[in-house]
Amino acid sequence: MSVEDGPKQVDEPDYHSVRHTAAQTCGWTANALRGEGRCYKNVFYGIQSHRCIQMTPVVRCNERCVFCWRDHRGHAYELDEVEWDDPEAVVDASIELQRTLLSGFGGNDEVPRERFEEAMEPRHVAISLDGEPTLYPYLPELIDAFHDRDITTFLVSNGTNPEMLDRCNPTQLYVSVDAPNRKTFDDVVRPVDPAAWAQLIDTLDVLAAKERTRTVLRTTLVDGWNMTDPDWYATLYERADPDFVELKAYMHVGHSRGRLDRENMPSHDDVVAFARAVQEHMPEHQTLKDVPASRVALLATTDDTWIPKLALDSSFWE
Ligand code: SF4
Repeated sequence: MSVEDGPKQVDEPDYHSVRHTAAQTCGWTANALRGEGRCYKNVFYGIQSHRCIQMTPVVRCNERCVFCWRDHRGHAYELDEVEWDDPEAVVDASIELQRTLLSGFGGNDEVPRERFEEAMEPRHVAISLDGEPTLYPYLPELIDAFHDRDITTFLVSNGTNPEMLDRCNPTQLYVSVDAPNRKTFDDVVRPVDPAAWAQLIDTLDVLAAKERTRTVLRTTLVDGWNMTDPDWYATLYERADPDFVELKAYMHVGHSRGRLDRENMPSHDDVVAFARAVQEHMPEHQTLKDVPASRVALLATTDDTWIPKLALDSSFWE
């Protein structure tokens, strides 16, 4: 979620891990601790960036997206030899990793004591650091375990496991839709399994049936690769009946620089223009919000896009 969102980018993964659970400090979490801004999910949904864990239960993936900042050479897919921790152990590991990662901020003069102490008690988790989280076999139970600790969950998936996503009810479920058609999908997403496109379509139907979970379709826009056919994107989006659509610029960082050029990074104006072109074909999504610093635009059916529970939590809002 954040590595492509934030101003503090990394070239190589610098994960802290406990067995197969990995975490990394989000650049926006660090910024929020220092009072230097919050992520766009704060603006759109009310996420308190300084209290957010960025983690994954699986550092493996079944796609090889051209815009991905990770090094695909080390990105194995086979899972045979993994001994999976139970969900409670993954939650414990995530919180402990977060506290360790942020411990240095405790002595930082730029970080108010109260804000640091809040950060030691995380309220949000973005299950999105790396890999495809639906490859963790106990993902629905992991989400419930986070909720039991009063931690909201943003789950980000590539949509290749509709059966698993059908069983998952996070606070907000993101599915990536990075192409308007099969040909572009194969060029941009480069799945390991040729069935991935059909699986994604099945996942859109799973999202449409969700009642307890807010759903988001997210597209990473890569100029010259997938910024075409806004009407086709709209048709795919509408199939999932999503609460939100996020359209976000590709960021020229990490290992994506070996696959793409800086010119493939659309400007914020380009992103908003594309979002408006999509919006013409989504009559119910008439709200458009945007955050220039993250080159992202949001389409929604309502102006009131914050997670309802968070709107009541005023501890952070100075
Ligand atoms: S939601 Fe969390 S991980 Fe994502 S950008 Fe915001 S602070 Fe970072």
